[in-house]
Amino acid sequence: MNFAETLHTNPIFEVIARRAAALDVRAFVIGGFVRDLVLKRPSKDIDIVCIGSGIDLAESVGRTLNVPVIVFKNFGTAMLRTGGSEPEEAPETTDPADRWEVEFVGARKESYRSESRKPIVEDGTLEDDQNRRDFTINAMGISLNESDFGQLLDPFGGLDDLRRKIIRTPLDPTITFSDDPLRMMRAIRFASQLGFDIEPDTFDAIVAMKDRIAIVSRERITDELNKIILSPRPSYGFKLLFHAGLLDLIFPELVALKGVETIEGKGHKDNFYHTLQVLDNVADRSDDLWLRWAALLHDIAKPATKRFDPRVGWTFHGHEDLGAKQVPGIFRQMKLPLNEKMRFVKKLVRLHLRPIALVKEQITDSALRRLLIEAGEDLEALMTLCRADITSKNYDRVKKHLTNFDKVERKLRELDERDKLRNFQPVITGELIMEAFGLKPSKEVGQIKTAVREAILEGTVANTLEAAVPYMLEEGRKFGLEPVKELTINPELVNEKPSPSGNIP
Ligand code: ATP
Ligand code: MG
Repeated sequence: MNFAETLHTNPIFEVIARRAAALDVRAFVIGGFVRDLVLKRPSKDIDIVCIGSGIDLAESVGRTLNVPVIVFKNFGTAMLRTGGSEPEEAPETTDPADRWEVEFVGARKESYRSESRKPIVEDGTLEDDQNRRDFTINAMGISLNESDFGQLLDPFGGLDDLRRKIIRTPLDPTITFSDDPLRMMRAIRFASQLGFDIEPDTFDAIVAMKDRIAIVSRERITDELNKIILSPRPSYGFKLLFHAGLLDLIFPELVALKGVETIEGKGHKDNFYHTLQVLDNVADRSDDLWLRWAALLHDIAKPATKRFDPRVGWTFHGHEDLGAKQVPGIFRQMKLPLNEKMRFVKKLVRLHLRPIALVKEQITDSALRRLLIEAGEDLEALMTLCRADITSKNYDRVKKHLTNFDKVERKLRELDERDKLRNFQPVITGELIMEAFGLKPSKEVGQIKTAVREAILEGTVANTLEAAVPYMLEEGRKFGLEPVKELTINPELVNEKPSPSGNIP
């Protein structure tokens, strides 16, 4: 198979070919780029292997293109970015931005010894370099040399495996996996991203060697896990992880959701498969990694809160609150960021039952209002999660729930537009209460403030000074408090632009 024509559509390859010829080294495009070219998948990184110094080649290409080269001396690699070429010159598979990241490395041979995880690295041939790659589909090269420019070099039948949709290691899988156990995760990640099967011997080797994952850093594991979560149907990757026995090692909390207990003929749903279904449902609607994490963790505290009540059957009371509390610990262990992303996931786990609870109750404006305020800017994400959480084997039941859910969503939207509640602040501040009654910070101030806030949320008092000040005075009287003489409202102490500004029905 020859890719000369395709390569000619991106000028970068000709530049590399010319520089390699001038330096008298042979060069090849290799790995993920070649795989994605065959699959017509977009890709942004180009990996170049040359028989000689990758750094020298990179610097020569960098001078020709007039772009800076970043050299990683310790690894013997170098990297540059292009960005100048016009989009119409790029192959179909290009990202529209047409910014390529090109990495250069000299072909190498890696020998692993059992005593050390660090391989002995020496210069090698193209074949040596292909041997150290993870999968046949990632080991293909394309020549950039004059004599056979565009020729595919595929010693392990990667092209055939792409056609058959198979993930397979180039060497005996036990060798490939023991050299770098992360490759077990990568096998499942590529299967999940591409919708491929894992070849049986390769899969069996993962099962046999799963414990070796312990020597891999958490960051690398989480990187692959996130790519599984971001794949089109993440449940597939998770089921592979589970059946390989890896999931139990890297994410035992998720495996704990598995299984159905039955007492007196009453069972509950298998929360592992339910969670994966919710994750797939969210994946159909959103590419957001953190919303997908929220789906994965929404029921994480079900095992810890599970009870059997002879009258009502299985209950999981409080699993949303306990689950939210468990989020930081899981994030820390996974080396995920402990920032606003984590707080977003935590919030969604905590609130995930709220919208659906409204379906069952009489929908009151005050309940809707409270949800709007608590969810704030994450309301859409919460509604996506909640909608995804409606799973059942009974199609009619799902349909009925979703219809009711539409109603809740419509009402929320109406109320939101009417009240503009997202950034709700009661007009009455604590400072205003203190000044009005001549109080120092105290319990009473807090209680009056809460009472005013509740009345506004319930809709019995409008969020305006005219309505809220008399109510505040009335509440004060309940504590035996009298306002100071000649009460004037200091505008500095009023929350600005109180909303809702109009009347709350
Ligand atoms: P993606 O960029 O989508 O993650 P990719 O295949 O390009 O996919 P990279 O991690 O960018 O993956 O690596 C580029 C190439 O380097 C791979 O195609 C593979 O040939 C090789 N490679 C990367 N990581 C490993 C590894 N752990 N073991 C063996 N080969 C690897
Ligand atoms: Mg890549």
